[in-house]
This record gives sequence, structure tokens and C-alpha cells, in this order.
Amino acid sequence: MLFPRTVSLGESQVKIAWSDGHSSVFSNKNLREACPCAMCAGEPAAIGVSRMIPLIPAAPEGVAATKYRMIGRYAISFSWSDGHETGIYPYDYLRQMCECDECASKGSERKQGGLIPTG
Ligand SMILES: [Zn+2]
Ligand SMILES: [Zn+2]
Repeated sequence: MLFPRTVSLGESQVKIAWSDGHSSVFSNKNLREACPCAMCAGEPAAIGVSRMIPLIPAAPEGVAATKYRMIGRYAISFSWSDGHETGIYPYDYLRQMCECDECASKGSERKQGGLIPTG
């Protein structure tokens, strides 16, 4: 089962070492802007409703995670330097938005598969 072994909060980055050996890196700003709480992400029911104003939460410059809290066995909640603390980040969600070199290269250069059979 996937769980974070260590969570370290840095000035500009949050690092999470997972039970499967993967080390994730997130920039504070991206993590803050990706906050999935109802206030930041909007209610799912609102999707499809035309909006005049795009609901993009703007994270203040230099925002940093000041505290974290484990939520059950599936998520982490962060407290931010801007006072926000209602976001719950499920492990799956965090892994999807991982910014480590390995994950970043997987996302950007998607090589066309194709093993050439030999023989
Ligand atoms: Zn939020
Ligand atoms: Zn990664």
C-alpha cells in the first residue's frame, strides 16, 4: 500500500518520499494552486455551467506549506503560509502531479512506443 514515509516542507518545495521508493517534489506554489478543496476547485456540480470569471486560485508569491497533517491513510492536508488549510490532497492526486525529474520527463516527452521485434 502506498503511503508517504517522510514529508519535508522546504522554503520553496515540498518533498515526499513514498513507501514504494519514489521521491516526489512539488513546488509550493503549484501545490497550493492545485488545492482540491471546494473553495479552491469549485464544486464539481458547477462544471459545465458557464462562468464569467475563471476560478483560478492565485497563490501568493512565496507561499509555503507550514504544516502537514495525515488524513486517514489516503491523504495529506497542508497548512499554508497564506492561512489556507482546508485542502486535502489524496496520495493518488499527489503522485499524479509529482514534479520530480522522472515524472516530468514522462509527461513531456512521450515517446512513441514500439519495440522492434528481432529475429
Ligand atoms: Zn483550497
Ligand atoms: Zn515523480
